[in-house]
Amino acid sequence: MIEGRCLCGAVRFAIRGGMSGIVICHCSMCRKAAGGAAGAFFVARRDEVTWTGAEYLTSYKSSPELVRAFCLRCGSAMTGANLVEPDETIILAASALDGDIAARIVAQEHLVARASWDADSEKAPHFDGAFPDWETLRP
Ligand SMILES: [Zn+2]
Ligand SMILES: [Zn+2]
Repeated sequence: MIEGRCLCGAVRFAIRGGMSGIVICHCSMCRKAAGGAAGAFFVARRDEVTWTGAEYLTSYKSSPELVRAFCLRCGSAMTGANLVEPDETIILAASALDGDIAARIVAQEHLVARASWDADSEKAPHFDGAFPDWETLRP
C-alpha cells in the first residue's frame, strides 16, 4: 500500500494499486502551491485512492480547468493540478508520501520557469543533517 499524509495528519490517502514515476514541476504555480523550489507529483488511478479526513481537504482552482487540493488545517499540498472534470486518473503530491517508495523521479518540467534563486542549487554544499550555519545567517 502506498500512503501519504499532510503535515498535520488530518488528510491521508492510500493507494491500493501502483503509482507512476514522479514529475518535478518548476512552474511558479506549482512552486507556490507546494511551498518549495518545485512541486513533485505522480499519477494514480482515481478509483484506487482512498481518502481519510477528506473533510479537511479544500481546493483552489488555479486556472479555469484545473483544481488543486490541500489541507485546510496545515496547508500541505495533497494533489497537483487536476482537471475540474476529472478522468480516471488523479495527480497526487509526492511531497505527501510516507515510507520507502519504489518510484523515482522520471522528469523535471518547466525549467524555463525555475525560480531564479534555485538556479545554482546543485552547487550549494549539501548536508546529511541540519545546515550548521543557520545561527550565523544574516541578510
Ligand atoms: Zn494537514
Ligand atoms: Zn507546475
